[in-house]
Order: sequence, then C-alpha cells, then structure tokens
Amino acid sequence: PVLPGPRPDWLKIRVPAPEVVAEVEGLIREQRLVTVCEEARCPNLHECWGIHRTATFMLMGDICTRHCGFCNVGKGRPGELDPGEPQRVAEAVARLGLKFAVVTSVNRDDLPDGGAAHFAETIRWIRTLSPHCGVEVLIPDFRGREADLLTVLEARPEVLNHNVETVPHLYRRVRPDADYLQSLEVLRRTADWRDAHAPAMRVKSGIMVGLGETPEQVLALMADWRASRVDIATIGQYLPPSDLHLPLHRFVEPAEFDLFRQKGLEMGFQRVESAPLVRSSYHAGEGMAANAKG
Ligand code: SF4
Ligand code: SF4
Repeated sequence: PVLPGPRPDWLKIRVPAPEVVAEVEGLIREQRLVTVCEEARCPNLHECWGIHRTATFMLMGDICTRHCGFCNVGKGRPGELDPGEPQRVAEAVARLGLKFAVVTSVNRDDLPDGGAAHFAETIRWIRTLSPHCGVEVLIPDFRGREADLLTVLEARPEVLNHNVETVPHLYRRVRPDADYLQSLEVLRRTADWRDAHAPAMRVKSGIMVGLGETPEQVLALMADWRASRVDIATIGQYLPPSDLHLPLHRFVEPAEFDLFRQKGLEMGFQRVESAPLVRSSYHAGEGMAANAKG
C-alpha cells in the first residue's frame, strides 16, 4: 500500500469549487503549460485552483534529468526548450489576475545554463504583463554554478526558493543526484547577493518530513538554513504519489509541526510554514504583498 493506513483527519482535503478549478484547468491547457499542482498530485490543488485561483507553473517541460525518489515527474531526456513558454506563463498569470506567481522547473542538466535564462525571461515577461505581481522562483541547484544563479537573481524575483527537500543523511535515497552542502551554498550565495543588491528579496527553502528523519535532525537542518540566512521555511508531510515511490515512514503529528514552527521563529526565521499539507508553494504570496513591486 502507498500509505501505512488510512489518512489521519489532519490530512483530509477541503471540498473544491469545481467551476473555478475547471476554469484554471482550461487556461492551463489552452496556454500549453505544465503545473506542479498536477505533476506532483498536490493535495492542495482544489484549494489553490478553486479558492485562490493560483497555480505553480513548471517551466521547460514535464521530463526531468534527475531521479528524486519522492517525485512524480517523468524522468528521462527532455525535449527542446520552447522559447514561447515564458510569454505564455506570463499571459496565464495576467489572465488569472495573480498578485503573486510561483514559477519552477524540472531539472535541466542537459542545458548548458540549466535553464537559468529561461527562468529570467519568464520573470521579465511577468513583470511586463503584470507589473504589480510578485514572483517567486523555485530553482534547481544549477550544479552549483554561480553564474546561472546570478542570471536568475538579476531578474530580481521577490522570492528565491531552493528546496533542500530532506535531512542530509537521507539524500542518497531521496535526492540521489543532489548535494546537501551545495544546496545550502545556493541559499547562502542568494542571501549574499540579496544583501548587496536587493534587500527586499526573500530567501526560502523547504523540506518534506515523514521520510525517516528525526525531529532533532529537522531542527539541525533548520539551524543550517539560518546559518545560510534563509528567511522563509516550509515543512510539510511527504505523501508518496504511488507504490513505486519512496515509502512513507510515518505521519508526523500536527504538534510536531507546531514545534518546528515555534522553534523556527525562535531561531529568527521571518516565516515558517509548518503543517501536514504545507507544500513549497502553499500560501506562497502570504505576507509578500509589501514586497511585490508597485
Ligand atoms: Fe499548486 Fe503549490 Fe497549491 Fe500545491 S500548494 S496546488 S503545488 S500552488
Ligand atoms: Fe522531481 Fe525536481 Fe527531483 Fe526532477 S529534480 S525528479 S522535478 S524533485
């Protein structure tokens, strides 16, 4: 079985507004876009699409060059980059009237810049078509290449998000093509650049829990985040997309999520989203209005 028993009450999902969900879905199909909401089988899809009319756009196709054991995105050789995609994402953001948009991508280790220029282009198109919309980019590690990170930073997203996904000792199983210290370095370099060039920018990162980590290991990871000057942390329950994905180790109780939030605020994070259904982009725009342009 995918789950070690029935979902506890705190993981039950709210009822959707079907006509709004259908409208968002229609727009996404029409613009030929990919969303994380669908690819990751996100449990919040009905709330985000149906109530908040928001989605997380996934650039550069639906085939990834990496093999994270928790992820439902197809693996293999991706296709050509679609140069019209940044504009179409921005048109969707404008038509949805978003005040805050989240954009991410598959990993494109096949591209010399890992897709950094495509990210930057998308940010610029959103700025052009929706000057008052804040943008969060959830980026890959670009294999640690500073120049590619700079390409994205120089397009000045309001939030630069890079997920470390899990505690270091689970990397080989959970995130085999990545490196924990390299991901922390992406965050620290972002904070350095922010301090020098864009003080309002926020640095964000997230993990899933329930994969076999202990609460102490989560707190140690949070201390590493703070040492890299991460401002916003997200912590949510891992839910395996299927039997073929990494098995769930345990359901983390709401009280433990509360503890992470409380400890995180004591450590100096500006915001800690820590709850069973939290995902990287869940409530992404909250508290960001003051930082959005215009
Ligand atoms: Fe999409 Fe993020 Fe909402 Fe999930 S939490 S439905 S991925 S916007
Ligand atoms: Fe999925 Fe991202 Fe890992 Fe690719 S890099 S397999 S899209 S989590």
